[in-house]
Amino acid sequence: MNEVYDVVIIGAGPAGLAAGIYAGRGRLNTLILEKGIPGGQILLTDFVENYPGFPDGVVPFELMEKFRIQAEKFGAKITQDEVEKIEKKDDLWNVVAGQGEYLTRTVLVATGSAHRKLGLENEGKYLGRGISYCATCDGAFFKEKDLAVVGGGDWALTEALFLTKFCRSLKLIHRRDKFRGEQILQERVFENEKIEVIWDSIVTRISGSATLESLTLQNVKTQENSEIKVQGFFISVGLDPNSKFTEGLLDLNEWREIIVKKNMATSQPGIFAAGDVCDVCPEQMATAVGTAVAAAIGIEDLLRKY
Ligand SMILES: Cc1cc2nc3c(=O)[nH]c(=O)nc-3n(C[C@H](O)[C@H](O)[C@H](O)COP(=O)(O)OP(=O)(O)OC[C@H]3O[C@@H](n4cnc5c(N)ncnc54)[C@H](O)[C@@H]3O)c2cc1C
Repeated sequence: MNEVYDVVIIGAGPAGLAAGIYAGRGRLNTLILEKGIPGGQILLTDFVENYPGFPDGVVPFELMEKFRIQAEKFGAKITQDEVEKIEKKDDLWNVVAGQGEYLTRTVLVATGSAHRKLGLENEGKYLGRGISYCATCDGAFFKEKDLAVVGGGDWALTEALFLTKFCRSLKLIHRRDKFRGEQILQERVFENEKIEVIWDSIVTRISGSATLESLTLQNVKTQENSEIKVQGFFISVGLDPNSKFTEGLLDLNEWREIIVKKNMATSQPGIFAAGDVCDVCPEQMATAVGTAVAAAIGIEDLLRKY
């Protein structure tokens, strides 16, 4: 007979690994399934300044390595596999993934989120040929180039600031007349001589030949169109939760985030959700970790009554 886990955690980002530490230390037979490498999307940035306990900041790769080591130290097993479906099997859950199926008493969905696309023609064509969703990954390819970033939240401001290490000039395009991002990031953006902010504007067209050459912008107040010449375009307009494989099983809100209740329980008994994929988590590492710890404790409580 197949091994039956106490909990299968889907995703090894900050939420999944934090839950793994608590579940493992709670002596639960714990499996973490991760489709990529452990660490999650925080590995897309090179430095984190706001995670509590690190007054001088911390390199995300080093921090997430510590999370992973701590989870494994307490007995959580991490396996590389991509989950496609969760289905009921008698009084257990069967987690169906690309490489195998895993039977478990409880499940924690901690699959985070992924870059939102603008949905423009040519967005896919110029991906890797001028278009990117990750400044840390691709910024160094754009030394002394003219760049654009679209977005107005923390992430867009951070990406823009990071890119000024490399680029000649950067236009930060935002559809409103003020940013949503943190005040401290806004101050840094306004002080940076390489950055020009283009307010009230959206990108309507991406053009080029073999590589990206220009963007067409529309001012949403005047409807005027303009063209800017850029060799690089970084899209930072937000994230979509990785919840597709739970559709039809769990209750999702209008943004496809998993709706959670007390202890991060979902609409299905025995399935919990934590981190960016759920509806109460404001896309920060600390909140991902906090919600995951609450979920792990909720899971332990439930299994005690099992
Ligand atoms: C560029 C950037 C900079 C950021 N900077 C900061 C910052 O300075 N401070 C801060 O607090 N936060 C920051 N964040 C946000 C932070 O990274 C997230 O809030 C946090 O990583 C969320 O953790 P999570 O575990 O919920 O999800 P994720 O980190 O997204 O992890 C989810 C994991 O699940 C895996 N997964 C997804 N689907 C499946 C599946 N079907 N099967 C198996 N595995 C799956 C993914 O591969 C991923 O490893 C930043 C994010 C980005 C992108």
